[in-house]
Amino acid sequence: MRVGLHMPLKGGFSHNVNRAVGLGCRSLQIFIGSPKAWHLAPPNEAELEQRRRLLAEKSIYPLVIHSAYLVNLSSANEIFLRKSCELMQETMKRAALIGAPYVVMHAGSHGGRGFDAGMKLFISMLKQELKKWPPQVRLLLENTAGGGSSLGGKFAPLGQILKELGPNAPVGICLDTAHAWAAGYDLSSAEGTKKSMDELFAAVGFERVMAIHANNIGSPRGAHRDRHVHLREGLIPPEAFSTLFSYPWPEELPVILESPEIGSHWDEINLTDLRSYAAAGVS
Ligand SMILES: [Zn+2]
Ligand SMILES: [Zn+2]
Repeated sequence: MRVGLHMPLKGGFSHNVNRAVGLGCRSLQIFIGSPKAWHLAPPNEAELEQRRRLLAEKSIYPLVIHSAYLVNLSSANEIFLRKSCELMQETMKRAALIGAPYVVMHAGSHGGRGFDAGMKLFISMLKQELKKWPPQVRLLLENTAGGGSSLGGKFAPLGQILKELGPNAPVGICLDTAHAWAAGYDLSSAEGTKKSMDELFAAVGFERVMAIHANNIGSPRGAHRDRHVHLREGLIPPEAFSTLFSYPWPEELPVILESPEIGSHWDEINLTDLRSYAAAGVS
C-alpha cells in the first residue's frame, strides 16, 4: 500500500509535494480546481506537465484526483446534469495531462426522483460519458455517508453500477472508511470490519477496490453525518484499520488520509498512526 495525504490547494503545488515527501508520503490526492466551483481555470498544459514530472521525480504515485463536490451524474436538475458532465470531462482531461490514473467521484444522489430512477439515470449517464473520457484514466466511485437521496451509501448499489457497466469498464471503487461508518457499516471491531469487507467484496469484487480513504469519524454509526476527525480521536478503533489493511492489497493501492487540519502538525501524527495500524495488519 502507498500511504498519502489529500493535499491542500493553498501553499502551492511543489511546496506541498515536497512537504508530503518529507513526511514519507508515497501517493497523494488533490483537487484539480476548487471543489465548490462549476468551472475550472483554463488549463495550463505546461504547468500540468511540470507537475507530472515533479511527481515522477519524487516517486509519488498513484496520484488521485478528487472531483468537485458539485458533480452529480444523477441530478434531477437538467442544468446541473449538463454542468456535471462538462466538469467531469474537463477533470478527466486534466487527470490525463498530470498523469493521474484515478479520478474519484461520489456516487450521485437522485434528488427526490426515487432510488431506482436515480440509479437508472446514473448508469446511463456513466455509459454515455465514459466514452468521452481519456482511456488511461479510471473513474473510482466513492461510497458516501448515505441517507436522504444518495445512491452510494451501501455497497450493493455500487456493485450494481459496476455490473451494469460491464467487467471491462474503466471504473473501480474508492472505499472511504468514515463514510462506510456513517452509512451504518460496523467498523467498531475486527469482527465487524471483516463482515463489512465481506459485504464490500461480495458486491464489487476485491480487485475493483482501487483506493482507500482512511478516515476516522466523530458522528455516530449510521447517522449519515460525515464529521471527519483525527485517526486517534474517532469512533473507528485501530483494530478495525488493522483488519482492513490485513487483506492482500496490491502494493500500489493508494491509502489517502482526508483528516482535518491537513497541512498542520497533525499530518505527521495521522500518518504515523496510519502506518502503525497498517504494520499491525500485516504482522
Ligand atoms: Zn470524497
Ligand atoms: Zn473520502
